[in-house]
Amino acid sequence: MDFRLSPEEKLILETVQSFVQSDLMPLEQELQQAELEGHGQDFPDQETLRRLQLKARELGLWGLQTPEEYGGLALGQQMTALITMEIHRCLVPFQFGGAADNILFAGTQEQQREYLLPTIAGERRSCFALTEPTAGSDATNIRMQAVAEGDDFILTGEKIFITGGNEADFAIVFAVTDRGKGARGGITAFLVDREMGFTSRYIPTMGSWGPARLTFNQVRAPRRNVLGEVGKGFELAMRWIVNGRVIIPARAVGRAQRLLEMGVDYARQRVAFGHAIGDYQAIQWMLADSEVEIEASRWLVTHAAWLQDEGIDNHHEASIAKLQGAQMVNRVADRVLQIHGGMGYTKELPIERVCRDVRVFRIYEGTDEIQKRTIAKDLLRGTAGLGRWE
Ligand SMILES: Cc1cc2nc3c(=O)[nH]c(=O)nc-3n(C[C@H](O)[C@H](O)[C@H](O)COP(=O)(O)OP(=O)(O)OC[C@H]3O[C@@H](n4cnc5c(N)ncnc54)[C@H](O)[C@@H]3O)c2cc1C
Repeated sequence: MDFRLSPEEKLILETVQSFVQSDLMPLEQELQQAELEGHGQDFPDQETLRRLQLKARELGLWGLQTPEEYGGLALGQQMTALITMEIHRCLVPFQFGGAADNILFAGTQEQQREYLLPTIAGERRSCFALTEPTAGSDATNIRMQAVAEGDDFILTGEKIFITGGNEADFAIVFAVTDRGKGARGGITAFLVDREMGFTSRYIPTMGSWGPARLTFNQVRAPRRNVLGEVGKGFELAMRWIVNGRVIIPARAVGRAQRLLEMGVDYARQRVAFGHAIGDYQAIQWMLADSEVEIEASRWLVTHAAWLQDEGIDNHHEASIAKLQGAQMVNRVADRVLQIHGGMGYTKELPIERVCRDVRVFRIYEGTDEIQKRTIAKDLLRGTAGLGRWE
């Protein structure tokens, strides 16, 4: 077992770290100011984001997981997770350009021309629309209907909590094409342009950003817009979701690490009862517990990512990493807020915002309870777990 990175991997990570330090970190003050003025959710604006992405591209950071033939770096999940941790140490929302939803690569050549390539180029934006008002965790139970009519499908129904749904030019939408066949066989994925007629409405949340509600009222999509095969949509949805179950805890590690750094700094400089508060065991334990949990999370994520890179089914390990990472970052955020006392509760510092933003980590792409359900089911079936080793 070798935990060392190759020289090339090390170089990529160092390049990311220096980009974060020189280009993203300086924007944190502006973000904090925008927060105080009540428009933090619009920061950075599209133009600034694009400028940053192009700057990163000059450094070779473009399309992390995008195959080389599409101009990407074709990195594996492990490197992507490590890079995600670095990026999320900075509180300014950022993602590298040149990326597209993993399942868009399943498209036909025509679909790739129309949807995948413009997405990679940053000219079009997509969203992933599975959840419905009556089916979230139980996604097998979606109701949106897609009825075949000649060369088209007519889509009717509602999607809710769709990230980027208000901004997207097109949606990857999952709908029932054959109710009798259940989820595996009866759900199909469609590429639906906004011009085809769906509408969207922003949903405000407790966090600094919000998803959208999408309404499809007899929206006509041509049969050539079926992504993958008719009836095979649910498998595509799961492929998308399992990927997120590794990347979300990687984000959690980055955020938590940054918060812990703030906690350590504050514990060193804040004086109470004649001593730096870091001299008190109560504070030290909060720092130590956070460090231990962050490290545990880092290795769970890295292992789940490594399995994926090796082509080994990692759904069990991804659920463990997602569950632990999502809970860990919420505990670390709460402790670091506590270490900062009253200051932690104000909007002078970003901690309260991070506390609000990371709460959703325990909800989307499978709630804590759903991860536990997956883990326990695997144990009971005897199909995974109990110290499995490859
Ligand atoms: C900000 C945000 C962004 C999102 N982005 C997207 C997106 O881009 N695309 C998309 O398709 N969806 C998205 N979602 C939806 C998200 O995946 C769902 O909210 C999530 O899966 C939970 O579904 P639900 O909200 O319907 O809760 P429900 O499924 O109704 O669950 C309610 C509660 O019951 C629990 N529960 C449910 N079933 C069980 C069970 N069997 N055992 C024990 N407990 C159970 C849940 O854990 C939860 O605590 C997003 C959600 C949010 C909040």
